Amino acid sequence: MRRTFIAGNWKMNLDRQAAVALVRELVEQVGPQSRVDLAVCPPAVYLEAVAGLVAGSPIGLGAQNMYHETSGAFTGELSPAMLVDVGCRYVILGHSERRQYFGESNEDVFRKAQAALAAGLTPIVCLGERLDEREAGRTREVVEGQFRGSLAGLSADEIQNVVIAYEPVWAIGTGKVATPEQAEEVHAALRSMLENRYNAGIAERIVIQYGGSVKPDNAAQLLGQPNIDGALVGGASLTASGFLGIANAAP
Ligand code: PEP
Repeated sequence: MRRTFIAGNWKMNLDRQAAVALVRELVEQVGPQSRVDLAVCPPAVYLEAVAGLVAGSPIGLGAQNMYHETSGAFTGELSPAMLVDVGCRYVILGHSERRQYFGESNEDVFRKAQAALAAGLTPIVCLGERLDEREAGRTREVVEGQFRGSLAGLSADEIQNVVIAYEPVWAIGTGKVATPEQAEEVHAALRSMLENRYNAGIAERIVIQYGGSVKPDNAAQLLGQPNIDGALVGGASLTASGFLGIANAAP
């Protein structure tokens, strides 16, 4: 049985004081146990501060990006081991903002996913179509291309430690949420891609999050779909009421 997993992507938001205040509030409100898996992904410079605050709580820590090399002359980059060192368990990879503004390709995302797994991190690998692609009826083709390029090269052992986030680009930060039916259709398609590439048992076990303007008031319907196992949350994860409102809406 898949556990619901709600992760907050803070992106390049909040300052140290606000980040610390938000995490303190989350830790206090969540208490010692959570019905669903939870993680926060703060900006890299606040990871260590947040790690100290979530330690011993059910809230996991994730980074928003990393580089695939283990060390060396890669100015400005962070290695998987560095993220583990500061307490990360997760890392978001291939977010559409990284693909769009920083030119990350499927190949880059694949290399990063392999490196993250080798270091013991759980990658949250994002994929999703743009509006023009959806309108051209190419959603499945685009998502399948990203699946093949970013994920399908992983071994059966590796893929079992991956979380997939389906994030239609047109729904990210726009307030335009995919309908539960639109999202479920792609999630089900992803699960059948997993079954075809690996096997039915693996496909059944992999958590597939939806991301794109998830809020407390639309979360229950989305999370109620059979193949939607959680949410990757941007804007609404910047307040405790938004993030936990979503977590509490999970069936
Ligand atoms: C995201 O950045 O992954 C995201 C889904 O953002 P938002 O919830 O703000 O649409």
